[in-house]
Amino acid sequence: MLDDAGLQALREAARLSPENLPLRQHLAGQLLARGYLAEAEAEYRAALVLAPKNADITAGLAEAFVRQSAHGAALAALEPLLASPGYPPKLGVLAARALLAEGDAARAAHRYHEAVSRDPSVGDPDLAARLSVPPAPASPYPAPAPTPAYPAYPAPGSAPAHHPAPAPAPAPANVAAGSAPAHPLYPPPAPAPAYPAAGPTPTESAEVERSGLSFADVAGMEAVKEALRIKLLLPIQQPELFAAYGKRAGGGVLLYGPPGAGKTHLARAAAGELGAAFVNVGLADILDMYIGSSERNLRATFDLARRNRPCVLFFDEVDALAARRSDMRQAHTRQLVNQFLAELDGVDQKANEGVLVLAATNAPWYVDAAFRRPGRFDQPVLVPPPDAAARAAILRILCRDKPLAEMDFDAVARVTEHFVGADLKGVVDRAVEAKLQQSISAGRPLPLSTPDLLAAAQTVRPTAVREWMATARNYVMHANDSGAWDELLPWVKAKW
Ligand code: ADP
Repeated sequence: MLDDAGLQALREAARLSPENLPLRQHLAGQLLARGYLAEAEAEYRAALVLAPKNADITAGLAEAFVRQSAHGAALAALEPLLASPGYPPKLGVLAARALLAEGDAARAAHRYHEAVSRDPSVGDPDLAARLSVPPAPASPYPAPAPTPAYPAYPAPGSAPAHHPAPAPAPAPANVAAGSAPAHPLYPPPAPAPAYPAAGPTPTESAEVERSGLSFADVAGMEAVKEALRIKLLLPIQQPELFAAYGKRAGGGVLLYGPPGAGKTHLARAAAGELGAAFVNVGLADILDMYIGSSERNLRATFDLARRNRPCVLFFDEVDALAARRSDMRQAHTRQLVNQFLAELDGVDQKANEGVLVLAATNAPWYVDAAFRRPGRFDQPVLVPPPDAAARAAILRILCRDKPLAEMDFDAVARVTEHFVGADLKGVVDRAVEAKLQQSISAGRPLPLSTPDLLAAAQTVRPTAVREWMATARNYVMHANDSGAWDELLPWVKAKW
């Protein structure tokens, strides 16, 4: 593997010869091998523009996605190649990894055998063990026919296997219809929409939560909270004031920032702050393979939020829609983006009253520009990585219900530079586990102390904030024509 200087030279060479495909591919491979995942992803994407459908590049891109837990995006990248018979078997193994991570063990196992039976050398013993299938395809599996992609999908009319079973009625799974407390500002929910009898039942992959969090549970981020208050909360809390200025509640806010920085946490807290229901949807979950099904899923999700207003409808991984644009079914994707926007705009003025749409992405530069038109996600809000004071505050919140000795959270914050909220949660979880073990041996509860957190911090590798900043820097410096990402400027100019 290259050293840092070698890698830097390779980056520089690729910058000077952006059309040199082998060079870019080599750079992407090196970045992937060294764990610069976001940067590897960007390089593979750029290489794929030069050589669409190149199997090695697609495999690299999919691996970068899988390693960033962007499993929907990995499947989207693989899908066009998997659709042709005789696709390279290593792509099938990657798809199996992504499918398994999405909870679809049946299709993952099918993909895996098919791939390994065609080329045993692509076998992955760990994956095979997790799939509970023998690592090599010695004999038990009949040679699969060279069928096109996703042959194991159930026929339309039955629910796709990788989604939770649809609720018998379109009522939310964990909130009895009608049991939601009546809200003074919003009328009782409209009757559930009728769906055409033919075709798959819309998947209600989303559930309605009642968030017990409020902004007090979100450390730091004062500017972000203020932006959300003005955009989301005040129109609901003081409707007369907004009406007087001809403004209506609704529209959306796009939260963007490095993974783990607290976007989901913040959205959940906004719902709690407002006394609103919370519906959390991974957009990748909605995009399923049936043409037409995703549209129904999207409609069902918006309707679920409308029936539970006031409601914060949170779409994670909103860039998944953009990832789909690069695939071969562009027309379908276009249709889906359009439907998303139509649902967001609402059929009439009142359609989305009391429905606050928050979307989150780690990759805002892939989000369709149409999303950012006025009245939609027109004010992207950066959820930045926490500085030292914010890290100490996050640690304080994460530890507040634990038995504690006197704590020096600032000391822990100092040694956790580049850690985001999710990493700090990892540190606290590890320290608690260790303390629990010690308490069991001691036969009495021992309080968590600063050295426990310091020791745990040594064992947790922070999420790739640096890599994220490097990618962000590329976009802000070279593709920020509309000024949409100006808020990032001071961040990417800082030293990481
Ligand atoms: P993202 O959606 O940006 O990937 P999450 O919201 O899932 O990140 O953050 C992961 C976890 O980190 C949260 O569940 C929460 O426990 C913790 N966390 C992140 N940011 C904060 C914060 N500002 N205050 C308190 N906890 C936080």
